[in-house]
Amino acid sequence: MGKSTGFLEYKRELPALNPVAVRIKDHKEFIQSISKIKVEKQAARCMDCGVPFCHSGCPLGNNIPDFNDMVYKDNWKAAYEILVSTNNFPEFTGRICPAPCEASCVLSINKEPTAIELIEKSIIERAYQEGWVKPNIPLIRSDKKVAVIGSGPAGLAAAAQLNSAGYTVTVFERSDRIGGLLRYGIPNFKLEKTVIDRRLDMMRAAGILFKTNAEVGRNIPTDSVLNDYDAVLLSGGSTIPRDVPIKGRDLKGVYFALDFLRQQNKRNEGDKIEKKDDILAKDKHVLVIGGGDTGSDCVGTSIRQKAKSVLQIELLVKPPTDFNPVTPWPQYPAILKTSSSQKEGCEREWSVLTKEFIGDKNGQLKAVKLVDIKWENRSFEEIEGSEREIPCDLAFLAVGFLHPQHDGLINELGVDLDERKNVKTNGYQTSKAGIFAAGDMRRGQSLVVHAISEGREAAHKIDIYLSGSSVLESKDSSLISVVD
Ligand SMILES: Cc1cc2nc3c(=O)[nH]c(=O)nc-3n(C[C@H](O)[C@H](O)[C@H](O)COP(=O)(O)OP(=O)(O)OC[C@H]3O[C@@H](n4cnc5c(N)ncnc54)[C@H](O)[C@@H]3O)c2cc1C
Repeated sequence: MGKSTGFLEYKRELPALNPVAVRIKDHKEFIQSISKIKVEKQAARCMDCGVPFCHSGCPLGNNIPDFNDMVYKDNWKAAYEILVSTNNFPEFTGRICPAPCEASCVLSINKEPTAIELIEKSIIERAYQEGWVKPNIPLIRSDKKVAVIGSGPAGLAAAAQLNSAGYTVTVFERSDRIGGLLRYGIPNFKLEKTVIDRRLDMMRAAGILFKTNAEVGRNIPTDSVLNDYDAVLLSGGSTIPRDVPIKGRDLKGVYFALDFLRQQNKRNEGDKIEKKDDILAKDKHVLVIGGGDTGSDCVGTSIRQKAKSVLQIELLVKPPTDFNPVTPWPQYPAILKTSSSQKEGCEREWSVLTKEFIGDKNGQLKAVKLVDIKWENRSFEEIEGSEREIPCDLAFLAVGFLHPQHDGLINELGVDLDERKNVKTNGYQTSKAGIFAAGDMRRGQSLVVHAISEGREAAHKIDIYLSGSSVLESKDSSLISVVD
């Protein structure tokens, strides 16, 4: 709970960011450090609010008032232990979570919320510095083996949990590096990849096996995995992007957002991209179609690549700026947000429909036809006379993901799908015995914090499936769960 009068004495304070002119010179993280004393004061702002809504606001059920209290009392080691009892990777969520916990903080009803995400990041970074983060090696190894297919946050959280319970866990990843969208989606300026590598070193030392360039259902036969492992977790993410199938879609210069982001992440890792494949925004007029996080990441990356101009458009109406009655506290507010990337120099427009991509005689994108729209209930109509052409050399489609890839693994397994074509589960168990699913592959495109939570919950269910009971933490059970 922190200090009972702390919220009256101290204002919310976050670390400074490197100025825009400095941070856009490279792709590195740009949040400056903040002193330990200042973080302790922020923890002191946590009130004795009786019913801490931040608990349920956090998809992991983090025991937030408890670790705030320990930070305020300068007992950071205890804070670390509380934090990692519910979250395997606070170094990821402490950097890139949209922090639904803060939206549901009781203090946020009439003041700025407790700076929970900052406190979380400060705890885990201190824990690494002090050497408190150690490989979680199980005391006893069982003879059972689990295959985790997909190495995003869901797969990694499940692997960490199952390994700690004594199973021999192998993570299969079709990419050349481990991490899923943490590695090849989210830009370095939000999450530097050394943060993932540092965690992977711990996981390897704890006994988890990682296989890269290993796509189950392609170069790793599905049958061999089913035969060699006692349980399988599907955590392959939601990888089929939504398209914008309009005239000119095939022009050179129109790309899915992830093709662009992945390429820059590979460059940041030191990989060479063949010149003919380069997608570079330098000196180009860039249009980002889609007003969400993925679009915002394209904005920040384009600006760092020295684009001539960046315009981000969104089909939906502009949200209200401060309060939205549709999402009252403690819900996550559907209000206008401006990301650090958007503050770096892009234009934004709402209620805009992309009508056509226009090319030159070489098939290269040179302009885009846009039109303003008016929403009525849940449908829209074009506003007459608002059609216009804007110069555009690069367009990124950042309009979401439909569902997981079905070709290969999913079709070969023959697991049932839900109405959105994600893998259908009952308590994380698919329609096939011994095969479980978690993360975006199961719930659809979502957030890192949900993926970690799903990985943990699925691990709990796998433990029960293999051993009849589980000592792994689960949000919806007491410490020890037994088969009904
Ligand atoms: C550009 C972008 C930015 C985002 N930014 C944020 C953010 O700031 N904050 C936030 O909370 N969330 C963010 N998200 C969402 C978040 O990244 C995802 O919700 C999360 O990564 C999902 O985790 P996952 O483990 O389910 O899947 P993923 O991270 O997608 O990982 C799945 C992995 O499985 C592998 N795979 C698939 N099939 C196979 C197979 N057959 N064999 C072997 N491997 C396979 C894939 O190669 C991939 O590496 C962002 C998403 C995108 C696209």
